[in-house]
Amino acid sequence: MSAARAVVLSGTGGVWTVRTEAGETHAATLRGRLKQAGRSKLAVGDEVTVERDARSGAWTITHIHERRSVLSRRAPGGARGERIVAANVDQVVVVFAMAKPEPHARMLDRFLVIAEGNGLSARVVLNKVELATPADVDALAAPYEAAGYPVHRTSVKQQIGLKALRNALVGKVSALTGPSGVGKSSLLNALFGGLRLRTGEISESVNKGRHTTVGAVLVPLDDPAGGYVVDTPGLREVGLWGLPPEHLDHCFPEFRPYLGQCRFQDCAHDAEPACAVRAAVLSGAVSRARYESYRKLRAETPDPTRHWE
Ligand code: GDP
Ligand code: ZN
Repeated sequence: MSAARAVVLSGTGGVWTVRTEAGETHAATLRGRLKQAGRSKLAVGDEVTVERDARSGAWTITHIHERRSVLSRRAPGGARGERIVAANVDQVVVVFAMAKPEPHARMLDRFLVIAEGNGLSARVVLNKVELATPADVDALAAPYEAAGYPVHRTSVKQQIGLKALRNALVGKVSALTGPSGVGKSSLLNALFGGLRLRTGEISESVNKGRHTTVGAVLVPLDDPAGGYVVDTPGLREVGLWGLPPEHLDHCFPEFRPYLGQCRFQDCAHDAEPACAVRAAVLSGAVSRARYESYRKLRAETPDPTRHWE
């Protein structure tokens, strides 16, 4: 019998695809005892120990190592209905295009809130920059840079910003998300050769037919430093996700210096008098567009009983 440390690349119950530290890929099943112990919630990105039965040659997942982080579509921490998209994600990378399709700041903000709500760092990629003026790119980037997010300006077509983005991805597990058509596959192909996102087609065809959610897939990066990209269909059509409404303001990093300074402790930063966040918007210290995103998201008051598949 041989044992190895491995990472779960894909799978939806039943059979899981794992990749060992040596770079071998195997199909493996979860040991029955682990299922019974309530640790059957294995997720893509989990680090596991696998053992190979000498006689049958079958691989079994015998241990799930402690998670560093969880990207879930509902409030983390065991809240009712938590849905784990992937474990051990280091960062969320939100990709938008400067044109074709037009950037959608509100949607970008929503993805960033999801990252913040999961306690994950995030970076923004603005692709197809050759289709816009530098001034337009800077204008779109400014509120995010002010909020502390790294913003990559890239063009696959003109080979702009690719090296810096590659450096930001290698050695880490990155959940790559963004609307379709913005160039996610093109970027990954330009950065890492034959790497392909697979879940785009899968999620669309399967989600139409059934009410199941197709899991994310971890794609190894072709680099000596390692790293993975998680393609996350589950984040693309995110609606409500169970983040308590009163936590939303903390998910806008540039609001944080003002939180706790409003007249009312439970200020929703809407129409309340003496709201420090609104004052910061009026003084120009906080972006009005970001504040409007906050209000829109806050108005979508998450209803914990609502299902959003
Ligand atoms: P995805 O759905 O996000 O994976 O997007 P794709 O990678 O499939 O790209 C969608 C389209 O945008 C394709 O026709 C690409 O050739 C094109 N594209 C990708 N990057 C760029 C870019 O930097 N500039 C321009 N003009 N087109 C791009
Ligand atoms: Zn306030």
